[in-house]
Amino acid sequence: MELPLIPGRECGPCVECCRFIPLDLPELSKPTGRLCAYCVDGAGCSVHAVRPQTCRTWFCVWRVVELSDDWRPDLSGIIVRPDGLLTGEMTLYVVRRTEFLQSELLFDTVAQWLSEGLRLAISVPGPVGTLPVRAEVTDYLLPAVAASDDGLFQRLVQACLDSLDRHEFEADGIEERYAVT
Ligand code: SF4
Ligand code: SF4
Repeated sequence: MELPLIPGRECGPCVECCRFIPLDLPELSKPTGRLCAYCVDGAGCSVHAVRPQTCRTWFCVWRVVELSDDWRPDLSGIIVRPDGLLTGEMTLYVVRRTEFLQSELLFDTVAQWLSEGLRLAISVPGPVGTLPVRAEVTDYLLPAVAASDDGLFQRLVQACLDSLDRHEFEADGIEERYAVT
């Protein structure tokens, strides 16, 4: 999916998609949760000029929607997945628990999305080499948003993450292969 990027916005030191998005391509496959061997942590892709097409076209929502810098995935711990962007569903892929989860900014942004009729899902990665799990949480979070109760919202988000973490994660079946030339 190719979406127009926000002009001037760069990934900077963030490499979270190169770590937490699985790839299973002829020239590059790597399991969920393992940093791509072509990635320099905190710096970016070492094969940028010849990287696979998937890497050229996949961007998280922070690169395509006006969200503040606090939302950058390496800072927030959240990759907002682009999959449902065109169908009205936002997926918060929580790859690391940070203070951002307790922030007013997260509450206000989610409240805004829900007021616009967007749906929301929360997803987490499991151990390296397993498939992420996700839950649709629109109806679950709506009462906290409707009551403007950010404390309740934060407790519900934490409970959802705890529940997802207890999931029996399935192996993603991806074997590492690095053949980008
Ligand atoms: S997760 Fe987003 S900001 Fe981070 S490297 Fe990937 S596209 Fe860039
Ligand atoms: S080839 Fe480059 S852009 Fe693609 S996952 Fe590896 S480091 Fe990231």
